[in-house]
Amino acid sequence: MFDLKQKSALITGAGSGIGEAIAHALARAGAHVYVSDRDGENGQRVEEAILSEGRCASFISLDVTNEADCASAAGKVRDDHGHLDVLVNNAGIGHVGTALQTTGEDMDRLYAVNVRGVFNVMKAFIEEMVARRAGVIINVASIGGILGIRDRLAYCTTKFALVGLTKSMALDHAKDGIRVNCVCPGRVETPFVKERLLEYPDQEAAYREMAATQALGRMGTPEEIAAAVLYLASDEAAFVTGSALLIDGGWSAGK
Ligand code: NAD
Repeated sequence: MFDLKQKSALITGAGSGIGEAIAHALARAGAHVYVSDRDGENGQRVEEAILSEGRCASFISLDVTNEADCASAAGKVRDDHGHLDVLVNNAGIGHVGTALQTTGEDMDRLYAVNVRGVFNVMKAFIEEMVARRAGVIINVASIGGILGIRDRLAYCTTKFALVGLTKSMALDHAKDGIRVNCVCPGRVETPFVKERLLEYPDQEAAYREMAATQALGRMGTPEEIAAAVLYLASDEAAFVTGSALLIDGGWSAGK
């Protein structure tokens, strides 16, 4: 339904979970997808899976905390395709803990990836988007960027910052023909959530509790988030900018 033919799209953290599903969805819509991740093995696995479907994909090794990686990714896309149409800032990391269990190093580590990392990648592409007067940026924030979540101090702090960054950039660059939005997923069953579960002594109980947070009584799938990103990337979303789209199974609707 959504057509991204002739478009280029770079997704960070595309070697796993939500980013992997986004890469597949945008490639199926016809985009040349740049699958970027700091994890080369997984990134290449996703590239190969997309190519094996007869779609277009190139893996780029990119750690979002490394500005040189970001600049070289922009150079590769420029040499290869000429420009970037869609940037999806998906790479992110989590942490479980209240202020009592969170160290300054934890705060810096999460900030470096979830906020500064997004900034680094955007810095590498924004000037060219402004010059072309075209571009779409989609950030993968979280319900934790809209509501506080118990035991997620560092994570929520960074995701609130990412929603702020999204809205500020949407205002700054509306006149440049660039749309900037974020999606705010509830819990989605990915390796990210499986890792968080390991931090609980009773993992089955923690799983049930995590699923029950959503009014729909289950976690989301990566494909359900990718569908929203595909919409935001498409021309059908031409009037959508500065939004924080909740895809949270009703978590934020109330108790
Ligand atoms: P995941 O752990 O399955 O995948 C994250 C990917 O990001 C991995 O491939 C990892 O290698 C990559 N990555 C991590 N740090 C990186 C860095 N510095 N540079 C480049 N790549 C890096 O996680 P996921 O569940 O798919 O989460 C993706 C995004 O969705 C994150 O931003 C996360 O905060 C957000 N999110 C996830 C959930 C959920 O419940 N899974 C809910 C809301 C928001």
